[in-house]
Amino acid sequence: MQLLWLRNDLRLHDHPGFRIAAERGEPLAVVYILPDHWLTPDNNGLNRLGTIKARFLRATLINLHRNLNSENIRLTLISGDPVERLMECYDREPFTLLTQAAQAPEESAWLQAISDKIPTTTYEAMTLFSPEQMAPLTNTGHDDSPALWPKSFSAFRRQIESRLALPVAEPLKTQNLRLLDWLPGWPGNLTWPDDCVWPPHQGFSLNGGEDPGIRWLADYLWESRSIQHYKTSRNQLTGLKYSSHLSPYLAWGALSPKYVWHQILKYEREFGSDEHSYWLRYELLWREYFHWTLRLAGDRFFGQREVPIAHQERWQAWCEARTGIPMVDAGIQELKQSGFVSNRLRQNMASYLIHTLELDWRLGAAFFEQHLIDFDPASNWGNWAYIAGIHGMTSSDAGAEQMHQDHVFDLNWQLEQYDPALKHIKMWLPQLGDLTLKQIQSHQQGSSLIPNYLKPVASLPAS
Ligand SMILES: Cc1cc2nc3c(=O)[nH]c(=O)nc-3n(C[C@H](O)[C@H](O)[C@H](O)COP(=O)(O)OP(=O)(O)OC[C@H]3O[C@@H](n4cnc5c(N)ncnc54)[C@H](O)[C@@H]3O)c2cc1C
Repeated sequence: MQLLWLRNDLRLHDHPGFRIAAERGEPLAVVYILPDHWLTPDNNGLNRLGTIKARFLRATLINLHRNLNSENIRLTLISGDPVERLMECYDREPFTLLTQAAQAPEESAWLQAISDKIPTTTYEAMTLFSPEQMAPLTNTGHDDSPALWPKSFSAFRRQIESRLALPVAEPLKTQNLRLLDWLPGWPGNLTWPDDCVWPPHQGFSLNGGEDPGIRWLADYLWESRSIQHYKTSRNQLTGLKYSSHLSPYLAWGALSPKYVWHQILKYEREFGSDEHSYWLRYELLWREYFHWTLRLAGDRFFGQREVPIAHQERWQAWCEARTGIPMVDAGIQELKQSGFVSNRLRQNMASYLIHTLELDWRLGAAFFEQHLIDFDPASNWGNWAYIAGIHGMTSSDAGAEQMHQDHVFDLNWQLEQYDPALKHIKMWLPQLGDLTLKQIQSHQQGSSLIPNYLKPVASLPAS
């Protein structure tokens, strides 16, 4: 028997695991294991699967379950420690394991422990490029460090776009599996957090799953053709189609990045390429850059996971959306209620936590990890490290190599640029409905406070 263990490759299209299983032809069972430690709070009270994120994952799994069912494959859902659960199962009935290659160090440790006992084959399903294509950049030097790995995204992009000029692999065709079975004797009982209900909110809301993801992409590219304004609208804070909103599908693997990339190329063949379609592919390369950096850096990418809190009061204020900075509080409200925040606001929130609240960037990253429906270890921790001015390769080294310049955002300037009518703030903090931009800016800077709003726990420096 062969067992396909799905993790964040929750789809049928462009899926090497199903292709390998079909080629081998042995009876196949498919399992998803919810790691139970995702629900256990760490020392700072954060877990890895907040309610909204759990709800998105559940929707993704339900969609996958239905799609597999229509191919007569049963998806077994369980929770627990993945290594222990797989070992237990193997002791009952041996199998060969198929699963996606590790992205983060935690997964590497799982796969290492499992493959000591269980014959394991891994495949790549998360990235545009393959390890072989990346080899010229990722080969390690004599001291085991990836000597040739570009130190910045721009250098990476230049190499990918011109020097290497790598073609992105074609997505695989959907495979028909011949032999199907399910895991005998496995409890199919996955317990979800009780409060997994979708609270009514005004923000962004997408359904999880492969089918909604494919429909969403089709709409974005072909029906509404919102890609036509991507480069000019991508920094907005409100709305559904100012940017692609593909990240929640990419993060769980409900959409294959290669499929997305080739759909954009198809769009370009039909309508011509322009700065908007180019820029969407450019952003997908950012994702790629962080992914491969994480793979190479391993634990160095994160540093220690649980970090001391320098200012407890400020941290509490952040967690409860009570910083007294309306732009940030609105972002935290949106994040907690919808599981999503625009890229521009994420950058501003991160900058405020790191550079004004002077809290450790890893607290902010862990907070985002709990809530984001598009959480992806590489993109999340990579972007936080970037705004903290730390190169992902060296983040935990004692003498962490600082970038030349920290990425500090001027929130009042950003607010004026990207939310001059205060649409976002008023959506998430309706009690501030009558205020003007100038009043909010003065309050955020601490120069003239709004009477009925929280005093900033840390005011912005003068613009
Ligand atoms: C502090 C912080 C934390 C973040 N955490 C995550 C995360 O956990 N998961 C995640 O997918 N993205 C993360 N991002 C990156 C970015 O904010 C989101 O990818 C983007 O907002 C998703 O919306 P979209 O799909 O509409 O993006 P679009 O603007 O439409 O971009 C298309 C795709 O390109 C990729 N992309 C775009 N910007 C980035 C970027 N800066 N870094 C990496 N990939 C990018 C994403 O896959 C995205 O879906 C983070 C950014 C910041 C500043």
